[in-house]
Amino acid sequence: MNVLVVGGAGYIGSHCVRQLIAAGHRPVVLDNLVYGHRAAVAPGVALHQVNLADEPAVGKLLRDEAIELVMHFAAYCYVGESVTDPLKYYFNNEVGTLQLLRAMLAAGVKKFVFSSTCATYGTPATLPIVETMPQAPINPYGQTKLDVENALKALAVAHGLSFAAFRYFNAAGAAEDGSIGEDHTPETHLIPLAFDAATGRRAQLEIFGTDYPTPDGTCQRDYVHVDDLSRAHIAVFGQLAKPGAALFYNLGTGRPTSNREVIRAVEKATGRKIKIVEAPRRPGDPAALYADSSKAQRELGWKPKFPDIDSIVATAWKWHAAHPGGYGK
Ligand code: UDP
Repeated sequence: MNVLVVGGAGYIGSHCVRQLIAAGHRPVVLDNLVYGHRAAVAPGVALHQVNLADEPAVGKLLRDEAIELVMHFAAYCYVGESVTDPLKYYFNNEVGTLQLLRAMLAAGVKKFVFSSTCATYGTPATLPIVETMPQAPINPYGQTKLDVENALKALAVAHGLSFAAFRYFNAAGAAEDGSIGEDHTPETHLIPLAFDAATGRRAQLEIFGTDYPTPDGTCQRDYVHVDDLSRAHIAVFGQLAKPGAALFYNLGTGRPTSNREVIRAVEKATGRKIKIVEAPRRPGDPAALYADSSKAQRELGWKPKFPDIDSIVATAWKWHAAHPGGYGK
């Protein structure tokens, strides 16, 4: 299929582009390069530097490239910033996405794969999290993603849009060949910061909270490899053939990993010791989040190739060791 990858120069989008090529599809990338990296786009793939909210430009691109399906990864994703600057998130993540959808419907493109998030669940009442649990986001980032999920349901009914919304847990890791990986500015994620602390680019690593009701007192998250996430996006194509298909899937390995366990995995991969500082809790962090992904396993035949933190961190280290400054300027 001809697939428009919106945000295809970003972390997850760039990995998905390579998986699309490997699966025999033809990706075309749209990215405004605000957070994306030109160098992350696979060689030979067209990159259109366009804003997703530019309906005339998006509409022209959809028609010119005979796009059959749109994957949408382009979003601001800093939870803390969404609290201090909610309009940035409501306009880009929500209004911008609605404009993208309007351009798609006007061009007759009715297949859509959306990056949603476990942040739509807020603080879960029980674990692991299943798709049918109540969604009650505790920050604007999660709220904008949930709002788009709800808009998609309405568009499926009204216009026969077929969509899959994937609720990611913690995306991590890098391409197995080390060619592309994670590079955020600013970087706030635990694994890349732990590499920086291990290699001396940072003096130390703060652990946000050591008094959680978890086995070692630190938060537990469900780390899922970026290539495993990407594979699910392609595995769902068959389900989207049915007009009006409205699909929601959790994507995680189902394995809770504590912050201390992540740090140990980074120390093991790098062979270096990390200087840790125990810091207060970060506002808005639930104690534990991990997925029940049995629906994706059952319906899509999806099975994570990287089931544990050591195998995920090993790929991330291959990228990070070769590109300590990421993609550069
Ligand atoms: N974390 C930490 N120190 C850091 C960055 C993150 O202790 O410098 C913790 C954070 O509080 C959370 C976990 O690591 O418990 C994962 O955070 P991250 O920002 O990587 O992903 P999130 O779960 O917020 O999507």
